Amino acid sequence: MSEDWLLAVTLGSFAMGGVGLLFFVIWAIDRNRISALYFAGAIAAYTAGTVALTVPMTAALGSSIHGVLFPLAMVVLADGLLRRVGDRLPLRLVLAYVGIMAGVVWYFAYASPLLIGRIITQNVGTALLLAFVARRLWMRVPRSGTDRAVLVAAAGFAASLGISAAVAPFSKVPRELLTRADVDSYMQSNLELCLIVVSTVMLPGCMVTLLAATLIDMVQELRFQRDCDELTGVFNRRGFNRRAEAKLRSAESCVMVLADLDFFKTVNDALGHAGGDEVLIAFARVLTESPAHGRIVGRIGGEEFAVLLPDFGVDLAIEWVESARTEMASRAVELGGGVTTVTASFGITTGDPQSELTALLDEADKALYKAKLGGRNQVVVST
Ligand code: GH3
Ligand code: MG
Ligand code: MG
Repeated sequence: MSEDWLLAVTLGSFAMGGVGLLFFVIWAIDRNRISALYFAGAIAAYTAGTVALTVPMTAALGSSIHGVLFPLAMVVLADGLLRRVGDRLPLRLVLAYVGIMAGVVWYFAYASPLLIGRIITQNVGTALLLAFVARRLWMRVPRSGTDRAVLVAAAGFAASLGISAAVAPFSKVPRELLTRADVDSYMQSNLELCLIVVSTVMLPGCMVTLLAATLIDMVQELRFQRDCDELTGVFNRRGFNRRAEAKLRSAESCVMVLADLDFFKTVNDALGHAGGDEVLIAFARVLTESPAHGRIVGRIGGEEFAVLLPDFGVDLAIEWVESARTEMASRAVELGGGVTTVTASFGITTGDPQSELTALLDEADKALYKAKLGGRNQVVVST
C-alpha cells in the first residue's frame, strides 16, 4: 500500500517537473513574463524538497531541508501569482512567513521532534499565505476568465492545505517515523491521505491551471497585437476588416461610418506628436464610449476611424454620429498655450448582408470627402 502511494507521489512530482520545464521555456522565449520563471522556480524548489524526504538520511535532516525548500517554493509561487497580475508580495510578509516556517519547523525537528507539529505548521502557514494572495487577486477588478481560473486554483490549493491541517490532530500519527512500523502506521492515517491528495491532485492541478492560463494569456496578447491598435486600443485595419466582414453577413442591415479628424496636421504641429497621440486616444474613447450595442470600432488610417453599427437604421445612426461629433467638438485640448478643440468630419452609408465591405468603405469615404469640402465638423450621408 505505502509503496503505491509513494509511486503516485513520485509520478506526480515528475509530471510537475514537466510543467516546470514548460514554464521555464515560456519565460526563455518571453522574458517579460516573469511570473512563468517564478512558477518554474516554485516547482523546482517543491520537487527538490519532496526528493529530500525520500532520500535516505536522518529524519531531522530530511525534514530540515524540506522545511526550507517547501516554504521557499510556496513563497515563490505566491509572489508569482501576484506578479502575473502586476502585483507583488509585501517583503514583510515574505520575511514573517519564511522566518516562522524555518523557526517552528526547526524546533519540531531538533528541539522537540514532532512530525505532526512540522506538518501542521507548514500547512497552516502556507494556507494563510495563499489565502492572502487569493484575497488580493479577488480585490482586483476587472478579472479576465484566466484570472478567475487562477484565483479558483490558488484558493482550492489553499483550502486543501487548511483541511489537511484540520484533519491532523484527529489522525493517529506516530511522533516520528523511526521504524518501519511508524512509516506503515503513518501511511494508513487520514492525514497522509489528505497530504497525498494535496500533492498529487491539488498542487499539480493548480500548476496545470496556471500553465493553461499562461498559454491563454500569451495567445490573447498575440491576438491583440495582431488585430488591435496599440495606441488607442481599438481594432487596427486588419482587425476591423475581419470583424466587420463577419458582422455585415450576420446583421440584417448595417451602417458604416468613416470619421477623420479635422486639420490634424496643425494639431500635431502645435502639440507635437505625443500631443497628437493624446487627441487620437480621446477620439477613440468618444467612439467606443458613446453607447451603441454591437458596434465595431477600428483605426484604419493615421487619424481615420471606421465604425460599423449593426442593426442600425440611418436615422438612429445619424443621431449616434451627431452625438459623437458634438462630444468630440466640446472636448478641451490644450494647444499653443491656450485651450482649443479638435473636431472631426463623418461620412455615413448603409449596407445589407449582400454588401461588399470595400464598397461600403468607398461609399462612406466619398461622403466623408463631401463633409470635408462642406467645411468639416459635420456629418454627410451617402446618397
Ligand atoms: P483634414 O482636415 O483635411 O483631414 O486635414 P488633416 O491635417 O487632418 O489631414 P492630413 O491627412 O493631411 O494629415 C493627417 C496627419 O495625421 C498627418 C500625420 O502626421 C498625422 N498622423 C498620422 N498618424 C499619426 C499618429 O499615429 N500620431 C500622430 N500624432 N499623428 C499622426
Ligand atoms: Mg484629417
Ligand atoms: Mg486623414
